[in-house]
Amino acid sequence: MSFPLIEHTCWRCGQSSEQESEAASLFCKFCNSLQRPVVDYFEFFGFDKSLTIDSAELQRRYYLLSRQLHPDRYTRATETERNFSLEATSILNDGYRVLRDPVQRAEYILKESGFDIGEQRSKDVPPELLEEVFDLNVALDVLRSGDAGALTELEASRERFVEMQNEIDADLELKFRQYDAAPEPERHELLTSIRSVLNRRRYIRNLLQEVNKEFATREA
Ligand SMILES: [Zn+2]
Repeated sequence: MSFPLIEHTCWRCGQSSEQESEAASLFCKFCNSLQRPVVDYFEFFGFDKSLTIDSAELQRRYYLLSRQLHPDRYTRATETERNFSLEATSILNDGYRVLRDPVQRAEYILKESGFDIGEQRSKDVPPELLEEVFDLNVALDVLRSGDAGALTELEASRERFVEMQNEIDADLELKFRQYDAAPEPERHELLTSIRSVLNRRRYIRNLLQEVNKEFATREA
């Protein structure tokens, strides 16, 4: 992994250093005071902007930074450092939550690359799911009108959706690797295709929730 060198001047001692944009740069290497944290999650944790991440390493850095940013360490610090530590802590926690989850991580990169990832997209039925969704709605209507005979059909739907979700996750993993290995000019197109897979995934997840809810009310 290589990091771009960034010229940084310490707010406290005024000394400049060229440093790699890794996590250690939270502290001045001359006076060791806490610096204003970078807001980009990848930069904050010292990772390349990539869709695949070493999750054990992410966790290691998270714990290390949590210790370094622990509030007990800043009770007698200057106000500037206390504020930086609060800012950094919130970036640390939000960033960890987003980066550890493959889907949220991809959505973060999509958003940063100017893609619209709005929830409203999930209302458009992906064309290849039209038939599936139609059958599901019929089964739900039949059930709600009191005919438990449609339960078998609903169970079959549930199994198909779970299967689809697994296929999608495998497909995403492959696409993530392709993106990370691709040269810059090809990346936008890959992100476009990743976004449509994510929309499909979200759509199926919502359908699954609906089906599971139906089962839950019946079992209650
Ligand atoms: Zn300094």
